[in-house]
Amino acid sequence: MKDLLQLNFDFEKSKNRLMKHLKKGGFTTLFEVKSPSRDSDFRTSVEFLKSMDSAVGKIKGLYTGLAITDKSDSINSWNVANFATEGLSKSNLDNNIIYISGKNGKLGDITDTIKQCSNSGLRNIIPVTGDGFSDELKPAQGKRQPCFDSIHSLKIIQGLHDSDVIYPGSAMNPFKYSSLDIFPQYFKLVKKINFGAQFIVAQAGWDMMKLQELRWFLDLREFHIPTIARLILLTPDLVENILRGKYPGVHISRDFKNILEKENRYGFKQFASAQWRRLQLQVAGCRLIGYSGVQISGIERPEHISTAAIKIKEALKEFKDLSAWNTAYMSHISRADMAPFEHRFYLYKNLLKSTNNQKPEINPDGIASCSIFTKLHYLLCKSMFSRDNFLVPDEHRLTKKIFTGCTSCSYCRLPMTHYICPEQCPKGLANGPCGGSRIDGRCEVIDKPCIHIKRAKTAGWLNEIDILEENYIKHPDMVSKVKVQ
Ligand code: SF4
Repeated sequence: MKDLLQLNFDFEKSKNRLMKHLKKGGFTTLFEVKSPSRDSDFRTSVEFLKSMDSAVGKIKGLYTGLAITDKSDSINSWNVANFATEGLSKSNLDNNIIYISGKNGKLGDITDTIKQCSNSGLRNIIPVTGDGFSDELKPAQGKRQPCFDSIHSLKIIQGLHDSDVIYPGSAMNPFKYSSLDIFPQYFKLVKKINFGAQFIVAQAGWDMMKLQELRWFLDLREFHIPTIARLILLTPDLVENILRGKYPGVHISRDFKNILEKENRYGFKQFASAQWRRLQLQVAGCRLIGYSGVQISGIERPEHISTAAIKIKEALKEFKDLSAWNTAYMSHISRADMAPFEHRFYLYKNLLKSTNNQKPEINPDGIASCSIFTKLHYLLCKSMFSRDNFLVPDEHRLTKKIFTGCTSCSYCRLPMTHYICPEQCPKGLANGPCGGSRIDGRCEVIDKPCIHIKRAKTAGWLNEIDILEENYIKHPDMVSKVKVQ
């Protein structure tokens, strides 16, 4: 009897087909659906999700699922776990991915949503910090609305009694083009892997060299975990929104913009067919450079799912060799520079060079050096505040305000953040950057450099990069008491 119970238990635990498929090295195609804003009718949105789920269920010869994103258009969305549980077929829940956004998120709500997903069989979870629409987050609106860092959500998953049935992933933005901006992204990625992320979804972009850069980084660091590339099927409206900066962290280079304008000039049909072809080339390229799948955004009608599936199957059949694919891809993009002017930093020098056996050659330009002013700031703060997380918050209030912009939060994290106050980040992130910084490394919400760039430079000077990858800094809500000595 005991053995029988054990058998059932193990069967339940291992019932995660997407996880098994990815771990076995299979290729998967996910179609993205947004959880709806509360301004829309919940039942109508659920019916739409059902129709997308049913369209995915009819695809043969391709491993498919849906990726349900959370709070993508608004912080005021219906709960993603309720939405997914209502709209997805019960027999197929483990083939889908659920995003849980920390945008305007609170510890209790996020914990409940994660538990709800796990209890209802939604096992593939990607916590994201959430992008910040500037009008929702800017301090001028009165109270700032911090985001709940995905690192904290990963820690919550690790702490659940059934954490081994959840397959947690991580989102990452590899499309960064200055050395200042790219290194902090990778430090945070390693931290997410250290805290439980078992697969990665790369944020949207068109630069295949950046996608290969991510794969090479993981291989060189010996993180043998699956990666999925998020690809966007563009429409003229989407292009316009991206160019207007509506999607933080998603960039279109000047060359690529020219190509899109040219495609658009000949009418919608030609534009659409060029986008399908580009998507085909990207999907095939992703598989050839070692990706385990793609997550396709921009497919908004169930009938387009079968078209996409046919095109993806054709592309995977057409290209079996990186060299042939490279020739076709370069010709399709007219050898355009996909890096946005004037930034074009890559971690490796020989990306997308034709053969499958190409070995990474590391770009010797590392992280930029730390200025004298930053060094002095660090040394001064260290001499004054190095024990401040053990003191009552009111200690040193004035000097801390002058030197770090202290906002007197309940739990001082300065000694853990190289004396750069995380409250200076509009999202309140202490464990590393979000993916939304602008192309020049400035913050996506306010017009200042991202604080995590300054921190990475300081850590580089002190030879403490490992701290950025390994040390977990608790969210103030997760700290029960401030120690008083
Ligand atoms: S300071 Fe950096 S991490 Fe914080 S919101 Fe701005 S870009 Fe994101």
